[in-house]
Amino acid sequence: MIIIMSPKATENDVNSVAGKLREVYGVSIQVNKGVDCTVLGVLGNTHIIDMDKVMLLDNVEKVMPVSEPYKKASRKFHPEDSVIDCSGAKVGGKKLSIIAGPCSVESMEQITAVAKEVKASGASMLRGGAFKPRSSPYSFQGLELEGLDMLLEAKAQTGLPIVTEIMSPALVEKFDSCVDVIQVGARNMQNFDLLKELSKTRKPILLKRGLSATIEEWLMSAEYILAGGNPNVILCERGIRTFETYTRNTLDLSAVPAVKKLSHLPVIIDPSHATGLNWMVEPLAMAAVAVGADGLIIEVHNDPKNAKCDGAQSITPAAFDELMKKIDSIAPVFNKEI
Ligand code: PEP
Ligand code: MN
Repeated sequence: MIIIMSPKATENDVNSVAGKLREVYGVSIQVNKGVDCTVLGVLGNTHIIDMDKVMLLDNVEKVMPVSEPYKKASRKFHPEDSVIDCSGAKVGGKKLSIIAGPCSVESMEQITAVAKEVKASGASMLRGGAFKPRSSPYSFQGLELEGLDMLLEAKAQTGLPIVTEIMSPALVEKFDSCVDVIQVGARNMQNFDLLKELSKTRKPILLKRGLSATIEEWLMSAEYILAGGNPNVILCERGIRTFETYTRNTLDLSAVPAVKKLSHLPVIIDPSHATGLNWMVEPLAMAAVAVGADGLIIEVHNDPKNAKCDGAQSITPAAFDELMKKIDSIAPVFNKEI
């Protein structure tokens, strides 16, 4: 961290700022006297420093962080890529992880049928929401615990690990006991109580990027989980809010290389929520592979027209099968495989 003192700052002001930082945060300070002003270089555990408080000290003009506020998520302190083991299905590394399934679990027949089809096409995990974060309280809210049981049955029949969304910190224990990957949805990316509870588990957490979250905010949410002791975080870019209304969201493909540069955590793409349009899933899934994503999460429904949630962006099992063939053929170009 760098602190630029005002040209008006006296030697006393400089000593008092340096003394305070040493005392409160245990950091060391390098004092650089310039012609116009003095610049302090702060060394040590600077991510615990409250920059707003430093700004309030007498004659401090500017405070600039030189390293990211996240440490455990940062590639600087963990140069090699993390590979997350999801009950045997690995996320990260050469193999692409393809998670597929309906937006929500609707019935035993629906989830088991979709599970078998996506498995036959090569999916590595099954998705399906049991607790749904709907914008309207009048929309289908999910089958809740009954839905979890149906997912478990689909897992028993196919062997596919299951990925499902949690909304309440009160359900962490339950999810920890039966789910393979716990999804934190975009709307809960900054539900810090939920993140703290999840940090106490060792379960892989699929952390979706918030609707209007910056990459730094997203990585700070990952940091909550890592800081609490759970190293198993998978990031998921699912489109962000922009001025464009043609698509449901705008897929930020650049987030993938950005996250890869900043962090060691694997990152996957959700082209379904990013676009809201079934016919855009394929081109954006291919683009995701091309920009270096570690996998995809795709909504697949056996009867999209009658889906209880997100039918317009759901592709059929047949379309998913076609897409898997295309991904399989382009993956080697990007040093990946299914
Ligand atoms: C979902 O995966 O069904 C979902 C609600 O996703 P998001 O949180 O990205 O909107
Ligand atoms: Mn959905």
